[in-house]
Amino acid sequence: MARLMKDKTIRGKCPNCCPDGGAVFHLEYDFETHAMVKSCMNCHHKLPFRKITPTGKATPSQEKALNRIMTAFGGEIERREMIGRKLWFSAKNPQKSMFLGDSLFGTIGVSGKFEVTLQRIGGDAKITDEIGVKVYLKTI
Ligand SMILES: [Zn+2]
Repeated sequence: MARLMKDKTIRGKCPNCCPDGGAVFHLEYDFETHAMVKSCMNCHHKLPFRKITPTGKATPSQEKALNRIMTAFGGEIERREMIGRKLWFSAKNPQKSMFLGDSLFGTIGVSGKFEVTLQRIGGDAKITDEIGVKVYLKTI
């Protein structure tokens, strides 16, 4: 059992003994609730432990695709985050008109395959390939 557990400590607030923070917890398996818990090393108060999934990193193919789209579109990336293994992003280009589309969002898969929606008056445009990038995002 002990071999499965990494010796990890977490700092935080313990509502029982250190409500202002600074308490040290270690992770342990709670056999009553069958879940990982944070146990205060000072007073042994137990708190639920939420597993934090590490932020995934974009693959080189994803970065390349994003660069290609942003080079064609111009403007700036507003937000980007990893959703699972997909890179999600949104961007805006105030230089463009709302009729041609001044904002877009979409996802890029691990291999660089993308699906981007260009928001514009008169109907959004779905861009899924190089031709679409040239047709819809080409800077004038
Ligand atoms: Zn405590």
